[in-house]
Amino acid sequence: MRHRNKPAKNRPTCKVKLMTLFVTLTIALLWVAFHQKQIREQEEKKVIQVISDIIVIEAQKSQQIDHWWMRTQLPATAETMTLLENKKNEVLSKLHKYRSISAETESLVSRFNSFIPGAYVNGGFRFLNEHDSQPSYPTNSIGFFFVPEEMMRESLYYCPTWNSGINGIAMAALEMPEQLEVAILFHELGHAKRHNKIDGKPDSDAQSAERIQEEVEMTEFSGEILNQISHGAYHKYINEIIKRELKKNRFEQVIASITSDDCAVFNAMFGCSGEVPSKLLMVNCVYILGFRFCETRGKSMKEKIEVYNWFETNIK
Ligand SMILES: [Zn+2]
Repeated sequence: MRHRNKPAKNRPTCKVKLMTLFVTLTIALLWVAFHQKQIREQEEKKVIQVISDIIVIEAQKSQQIDHWWMRTQLPATAETMTLLENKKNEVLSKLHKYRSISAETESLVSRFNSFIPGAYVNGGFRFLNEHDSQPSYPTNSIGFFFVPEEMMRESLYYCPTWNSGINGIAMAALEMPEQLEVAILFHELGHAKRHNKIDGKPDSDAQSAERIQEEVEMTEFSGEILNQISHGAYHKYINEIIKRELKKNRFEQVIASITSDDCAVFNAMFGCSGEVPSKLLMVNCVYILGFRFCETRGKSMKEKIEVYNWFETNIK
């Protein structure tokens, strides 16, 4: 009887039991979520490391030598001007050689029919010939600025770039396999068509959606050129990588599945045997692999932009 009269507050009620169960379950769920997050983060780190290794192609780097034809900045002499003029003419003749790859390459070669050679000297892009330094450019002319090895190594950014401010392309003074060089230059001329000083739009912010979409389009354009030059072998091999990884459903996993053997196939396809050229080719390979993976999964430009942003954030 005494027990029957025990106050209710000293006995675990149904409400208290439920509360205890709720708290226990919440802690368990939080622990599982935390553990899964840790696994995802570890996976992500592994993927980033694998892709970085692919880009740097560690396995082959030590065996390869880059051939720079301008290692340090040169004096403004007649010899230097002749050298730059000759190099500019070499590049121009390569663009003409491959102009008929597509309607777009044909139109770019017609659109930009004159290049003025220059170099990166004393911290800036300059024409060595004073007559070329005029502020207004002749119609359809753009600058072609070669950057010596010591400047390029400082910036650690070897990719040729279109620079609207100087209305010209800056590129390493480095021997490159002709096919890769042409693909990269058409990419830059594509930017020049949109943002030149004659009839182009002003440059948009580098992080704007519009600009990132343009990068995706230009990267696909240079991939298309590599594909045409290799008679379809480039895209065919990329498709084979995607097919052998059918169970993978994230673009990062598919990109990280590239092996050293795959890198060797791509390098052989375009005659890449130097550290920098191989690196530039691999950057295009991983982007195109990501973009084509999106296409096989029925995804659109929005997902391709995600691939581009992920790569820019985590790898470069
Ligand atoms: Zn670009």
